[in-house]
Amino acid sequence: MRIGDWELNVSVNNSVTVEHNIDGHPCIASVADAEFEIHVRYHGAGHFMYKVFVDDKDVSGCWHKMDADCVSTSTQRRHGSVGKVAHTFKGWEKTADGQTAVRSFVFAKVAADGDGEGDFSRPIVADWTRGHITLAVYDAELYTVTSTRCLSAKADQGPVMSLDEATMVKNGLSTTAGAGAVSFIRSRQKRVGEVSIRVPRAPEARRKVAELRLFYRDSFFMLLREDSCCGGACARQRAVDEARPTRATELRALADAGAGSSGAPIRERLVGFTETRERIARKRPAAGEAPIDLTGSDDEAGGEQQQGERVPLADAFAVAAGTSSVPIPVD
Ligand SMILES: [Zn+2]
Repeated sequence: MRIGDWELNVSVNNSVTVEHNIDGHPCIASVADAEFEIHVRYHGAGHFMYKVFVDDKDVSGCWHKMDADCVSTSTQRRHGSVGKVAHTFKGWEKTADGQTAVRSFVFAKVAADGDGEGDFSRPIVADWTRGHITLAVYDAELYTVTSTRCLSAKADQGPVMSLDEATMVKNGLSTTAGAGAVSFIRSRQKRVGEVSIRVPRAPEARRKVAELRLFYRDSFFMLLREDSCCGGACARQRAVDEARPTRATELRALADAGAGSSGAPIRERLVGFTETRERIARKRPAAGEAPIDLTGSDDEAGGEQQQGERVPLADAFAVAAGTSSVPIPVD
């Protein structure tokens, strides 16, 4: 889903899910026992901080940067002046001592045999207070780092499921977000003297600028309710979009050529959903350093193919693949 320049998507088993609109709610089908990932993108300018929640549980315990104009030293060091934001959350993150443990997101199926009647006794309840993935974006302020003190992030990793079984049954939900295999990534630490961004210290000074909420429901619910959206048209439209050749094919070729790191599969997926969600637009003509405009222009529908666009495409790939937010412990 996309609101303004902010975009939130979920992929299940490595492919971006089809989103339906049911009773006014953007809704995807969960797949029991399947791993899922959460993709955050920002297409605009400016700098913000954000968090991602699954059923109101903070997935990392950290604020993440959305530093599109590269005001922070660490963003400049990694990405120069091109600052588009794209990050994939693969699981529940917990950071301590410079290392982050990630437990993959899994759609866990509730064991519904407690009442002896099995799955079919479950009511189809349209409860929109549960079963959701949320991106919350806040204004950020600049500050200068004065301490390398790295506090452990308090990720909400305690429960194996984001919702308890009783809550799920009562609310007619059969899947929830659980946790799967654990992997580790190295987290970056701030350095003294760097310029960075953060949410304002005082909670009352914080201002939420965007909130995107995507609901996940089991396939039974989706089958029953899909008609109220489109009767399957959303899925068909996406299939058509995927079949349509776009210049994103070139992006993918670049991704393949530039592969060789372990990040390659992620890059390809990011490119993949970029191509299906919006057409690759051209570089803004005026500014030499402006990043490629990914905001969904239809310009290329007429078949324009300009050789000069290869360089911006490379830039665009670097943008799509290279940026990632860094867990910043709250302090
Ligand atoms: Zn639909």
